Amino acid sequence: MRLLLTTSQGIEDLAKAEVESLLSGLGVPFRVEERPLGVEGRVLAEVGEAYYTDEKGRKRELSVPTYLNERSRLLHRVILEIAIERFEGIGDDEPEKALKRIEDFVSSLPIEHFVKVSESFAVRSFRKGEHKITSLDVSKTVGKAIFERLERFGTPRVNLDHPAVIFRAELVGDVFFLGIDTTGDSSLHKRPWRVYDHPAHLKASIANALIELAKPDGGPFIDPFCGSGTIPIELALRGYDGRIISLEKYRKHLRGAEINALSAGVLERIEFLLGDATKLSEYVESVDFAVSNLPYGLKIGRKSMIPKLYSAFFQELSKVLEKRGVFITTEKRAIEKAMTENGFEIKHHRLIGHGGLMVHTYVIE
Ligand code: SAM
Repeated sequence: MRLLLTTSQGIEDLAKAEVESLLSGLGVPFRVEERPLGVEGRVLAEVGEAYYTDEKGRKRELSVPTYLNERSRLLHRVILEIAIERFEGIGDDEPEKALKRIEDFVSSLPIEHFVKVSESFAVRSFRKGEHKITSLDVSKTVGKAIFERLERFGTPRVNLDHPAVIFRAELVGDVFFLGIDTTGDSSLHKRPWRVYDHPAHLKASIANALIELAKPDGGPFIDPFCGSGTIPIELALRGYDGRIISLEKYRKHLRGAEINALSAGVLERIEFLLGDATKLSEYVESVDFAVSNLPYGLKIGRKSMIPKLYSAFFQELSKVLEKRGVFITTEKRAIEKAMTENGFEIKHHRLIGHGGLMVHTYVIE
C-alpha cells in the first residue's frame, strides 16, 4: 500500500525518519520518500503487508495506517493513496476545463476497490497554489465523480457531517492526489490532552520536531516560555526520564499548562515554575537543554519589546545552558542578534510552516 502522510512544511525529513523508525519495528518492507513530486509537508510511504502472529499461532493482518495514527508524534494525517497524478498547466486552465480534467481522472479510478459502496462518504479537499478553481469546487467535482462511479455497483450515500469514509482530494500546484483519510476530520497534531487552549500554542508535531533537533539525552530540560506546556508535555509523553522544567510568566497560562499536563497524565513528570525568563538564573542553576517557541509579538505583547526581551533572555541563558538550545520565532533579526551577542553559535537553521507563516528555527550551542 502507498500512504500519503502529511505534516508541517519544513519538518518532512524528521517525519520521514520517524516513520522509518516506526515501520522498522513492524518488520515489513518499506520505502519512505519526503516531498513526493516536490509537494511540501508531505511524505510518501510504500509499505508491504504487515502481519503479526496471534495467541493461537495464526497469521493476522496488522493495519499499518492505524499503527501510524496511534504512534506518530510528527504526522498530521495518514492517507491511503488511491491515485496521484500531475496535471500539467492546471493552474492556467479555465475552471470548467480544470474541473473536467479532475472529474475524468477520478471517474477512471477503481474507487469500489477501496470502500464498501454502502458506506456513507464525504470528500474533504485541500488546495494550494495558483488555480482558477477553489477547494470547494474540487470537493464537489470529486464527490460527483466518486458518486457516479460507485452508483454502478450499488446505492452510494453521501454524509457530509458524519461520513463513514473520508476521501481526501488535494491539489497542490499541478499535483493532484486522491486517497482515503484514515485519520478522520481532526488532525493528529490536535492532541486530545489539550484542555487549555493557549492563543499562541505550538502544534504538537512541531514541538516534537524541536525536541528531535535538540536531541535531549536525559539531562535537565527547560521550556522557559512554556505557555500551555506543549513542549514539556510532549517530551514527558515520549517517556523522557530526565528533569523537565516548564517556566511561564503568566499565572493563567502556567495553570493552563498544569491542567494540560494533568489531562495528558504527566503532571508529576514536570516541574512548573511561575517566573520571568529574563531572570532565568534565579530559578535554575544549570540545564542541558532549552527548547521554546519565543513570544513573537504578533499574537502576544508589544512587538517593540521583542529585541529587549530576547537580548535579556539569551544573556541569562548563557549563564545556565550546558549543551543545546532550540528556538522558533518569526523575529529573525532580533533572535540572531541576541544569540550571537551572548556567545551562542548557530549550528542549524531551518524554516518551519506554522500558522500560515514560515517560522525561523535555530539550534544553538
Ligand atoms: N509553546 C507554547 C504553547 O504551545 O502553548 C506557547 C508559547 S508562547 C509563543 C510564548 C509564551 O511566553 C506566552 O505564554 C507568554 O505568556 C510567555 N512569556 C512572555 N514573556 C515571558 C517572560 N519574560 N518569561 C516567561 N514567559 C514569558
